[in-house]
Amino acid sequence: MPPITEVITSTTHSPCVACGRQKHLTDFNIYNSGVVNNVMEPLCKLCIGTYKECSKVVCCKCKMVMGWLDPHKDNDGFVFEKNHSYHIQACPNCTPGLLKADLIEKIIYLQRKQKGLI
Ligand SMILES: [Zn+2]
Ligand SMILES: [Zn+2]
Repeated sequence: MPPITEVITSTTHSPCVACGRQKHLTDFNIYNSGVVNNVMEPLCKLCIGTYKECSKVVCCKCKMVMGWLDPHKDNDGFVFEKNHSYHIQACPNCTPGLLKADLIEKIIYLQRKQKGLI
């Protein structure tokens, strides 16, 4: 039997959000998103390949990738590009009760569009 309690109380391990395997924190990809430094992508090396082409949603408070989207264009014209990071100021994990988290890039895009700059 593996020492389960050690895994649960460990601060050096975290589950891969895709497959649930406990991974050492150093096994996760850490990158600079262009807005936030040292963003952690909580995927193990096996799963990261699956999400490689996705647009990533990063919580600025958690410094973590919270979601992966297939690249696409929204109805309002906002484009999610592959392997690009998009940001939310907070997420339900760090801000309980948060109902809505708008993408910062999208807010800026819509403001510019409203002003006729795009
Ligand atoms: Zn995994
Ligand atoms: Zn958060």
